[in-house]
Amino acid sequence: LTIQEGCDKFCHFCVVPYTRGPEYSRPFNEIVDEAKILSENGVSEIILLGQNVNAYHGKNQQGKQVDLAYLIDTISEIENIKRIRYMTSHPIDMNDSLIDVHGKNSKLMPFLHLPIQSGSDKILKEMNRKHNVAFYRKIVDKLRTERSDIALSSDFIVGYPNESDKDFEETMKFIDEIEFVIAYSFIYSQRPGTPAQKKDNIPLAQKKARLSALQSLLKEQQKNYNKSFVGKKLEVLFEKKGRHKNQYIGRSIYNQSVFTTSETNLINKITNAKITNSTDFALESAV
Ligand code: SF4
Repeated sequence: LTIQEGCDKFCHFCVVPYTRGPEYSRPFNEIVDEAKILSENGVSEIILLGQNVNAYHGKNQQGKQVDLAYLIDTISEIENIKRIRYMTSHPIDMNDSLIDVHGKNSKLMPFLHLPIQSGSDKILKEMNRKHNVAFYRKIVDKLRTERSDIALSSDFIVGYPNESDKDFEETMKFIDEIEFVIAYSFIYSQRPGTPAQKKDNIPLAQKKARLSALQSLLKEQQKNYNKSFVGKKLEVLFEKKGRHKNQYIGRSIYNQSVFTTSETNLINKITNAKITNSTDFALESAV
């Protein structure tokens, strides 16, 4: 359910503020009404979407200014909505009320996609990200205090202009420290009209070598994370049929892809599935 569009942050590598315009939040009542309609049509899980979803702001029925945490709490009061997620977030908009709601609202799933892009303060500054590594680390600490099992995902750009070996090493150390359950990583590439466009100064071979090292580390973390669930039970919402006969695919509370085989229709069912096997990117279960 889209709740917000556009962006005012102007990261130096990104075209969104130019192509999608300034940050805009949809009216609160409209979103809540749509969530109710979705629930009446059988939807169990709502993903609140926006380029800067946690910059969301609106006015509630009483005309009071409210934020994403308030919206999540309001939607969670709809009985048949069992799960809520939101993406994509910017670190500087992770306010305390949003962090608190992760600890207090059991319908908000323990998963957060929070892009950082680099583990080097120098590069974050060059990217105009408006936060440093310590700021991000503090958010992670607070989130883990509220919800110790929260699964974190992120985005990384490697080979950003002026990224030295030391800057890249700092990113690797940061990934090692935080332990992401999944992450999306890309080689820096020029986007027309952005401030970073003319500064692209890292040779392609070096960019590729860095991306390969970074992806190996992330893949290892994801593999170990998935493996830690084998033999345990995990709540899964099955969403669709798989390619094989009687195969169903769903999402765990931590947003992992989980597949199983069943002769009964599991679509839109939430079950406590026993995890029997793990691959790098998915879990296998028995229901
Ligand atoms: Fe905005 Fe995200 Fe693009 Fe930065 S990367 S300008 S926060 S949309």
